[in-house]
Amino acid sequence: MNKDYDIIIVGAGASGVFASYEFTKLNIDAKILMIDSGNPIEKRICPIKTGKVPNCISCVPCNIMNGFGGAGTLSDGKYNITNNFGGDLHNFVGNEEAIELMEYVDSVLCDFDGQESKLYSTASTNLKTVALQNNLHLLDAKVRHFGTDRNIEILKKMCSYIEDKVEMIWRTTVDTVEKKDDIFTITTDKGESYTCKDLILSAGRSGSKWISKICEQENVNLQSNKVDIGVRVEVPAEVFKHITDEVYESKIVYQTQQYNDLVRTFCMNPYGEVVAENTNGIITVNGHAYADPELQSENTNFALLVSNTFTEPFRDSNEYGESIAKLSNMLGGGVLLQRFGDLIKGRRSSERRMKKCFTRPTLKATAGDLSLVIPKRQLDDIIEMIYALDKIAPGMANEDTLLYGVEVKFYNSRVEVSENLETSVKGMYCVGDGSGVTHSLSQASASGIHIARILNRKYK
Ligand SMILES: Cc1cc2nc3c(=O)[nH]c(=O)nc-3n(C[C@H](O)[C@H](O)[C@H](O)COP(=O)(O)OP(=O)(O)OC[C@H]3O[C@@H](n4cnc5c(N)ncnc54)[C@H](O)[C@@H]3O)c2cc1C
Repeated sequence: MNKDYDIIIVGAGASGVFASYEFTKLNIDAKILMIDSGNPIEKRICPIKTGKVPNCISCVPCNIMNGFGGAGTLSDGKYNITNNFGGDLHNFVGNEEAIELMEYVDSVLCDFDGQESKLYSTASTNLKTVALQNNLHLLDAKVRHFGTDRNIEILKKMCSYIEDKVEMIWRTTVDTVEKKDDIFTITTDKGESYTCKDLILSAGRSGSKWISKICEQENVNLQSNKVDIGVRVEVPAEVFKHITDEVYESKIVYQTQQYNDLVRTFCMNPYGEVVAENTNGIITVNGHAYADPELQSENTNFALLVSNTFTEPFRDSNEYGESIAKLSNMLGGGVLLQRFGDLIKGRRSSERRMKKCFTRPTLKATAGDLSLVIPKRQLDDIIEMIYALDKIAPGMANEDTLLYGVEVKFYNSRVEVSENLETSVKGMYCVGDGSGVTHSLSQASASGIHIARILNRKYK
């Protein structure tokens, strides 16, 4: 195989796949390779889903996080079209351009069989007023929900579309990057080397440490980012039905009275399932939902997150998040689960108490005590937010509300990039969540389109 390419994409997540899509669509005059640590899409099956194992067994690679489509493939494919959350792409490409790019991503997904999926919007909802009356702030967004099942089908079609133009290599991790005479040489864990003129780093959250290593080696500036810590909440779907039926995903922000901290809802999955995710050996929680009613559960899940940013002398926010996740992994052997009623009464949830619980958990997790894991300040914030949400969604603060811990949103260190998402190393670009600029499917995908258009102009 000839190992010289014009462009190499490291990471086949949302950003890498959408860059590949646009390269194919524009029929760019360039030879392209995309490499990923994970599996091709048809092999991305989590053994928990098949019932082969009851709990996360830390597969390498993790099929939830790695492979074609990246962390987005087994997500429920909620594409939020907004500059209000999900990243700061608009600060690089401008507000209008960012929205246009996200709208374009939406149209591509719809063309690949997603057109039946509903586009929800907060534009004319009365919920905003009701939330405000209760000191809660509903952020504006449009959201298209594809559902895990349809999301996978769309991505399979995208894979067939790009495979004639973009060569793809699976289960291969890029290790080193070297630049000499305007040519990048990369080596992989299989001992192979490849060269290219332009290198796109799109390694996402699972590649965050690797991206930081490459940037440090190449003297690209990195800025520490925040880390969000919290829990995944699971309640009977009826509790949030009036909200999720209207806007599907509601991003609600609350400022706590005790500490003035901001707590927000994140990644809402009506009739969904809670899942464990494994990032570099650390098990945290997440959630998703199917479009097919037959596959749906009776619960709604979403995260409640508190943001933490650190200043000198401590700068490594991710290390802080990892330490808290490790504590929960140590006590629970993975994910911990507690009833809200038990948390408030200061007692652990036990298997015996869980048996009496009316809300049935969708993820098998160890019944335990989250107050031994989550720092007091963040836990107080979460409890206060649960009572605040109870005012607009009565039932939220019920004894049987389930809390899974911990949910951690790691944000990659912010890589210094230009408006073209190019680093200070000419020809080395950083897109998607790996850049620390985006934190969502829409924005990561949009950044992939943006870079493909820039490189297409260069190769003309
Ligand atoms: C369960 C779950 C549900 C989610 N739900 C939503 C949602 O509904 N809406 C939303 O907006 N966001 C959601 N997210 C987040 C969303 O998936 C990410 O924001 C998005 O996938 C980021 O895309 P990316 O291309 O930057 O990186 P990723 O999708 O993380 O892809 C990065 C890829 O790079 C590969 N890689 C890493 N390092 C290397 C290396 N050194 N060599 C080779 N390959 C490498 C990885 O294997 C991976 O496939 C969810 C995430 C999870 C885990």
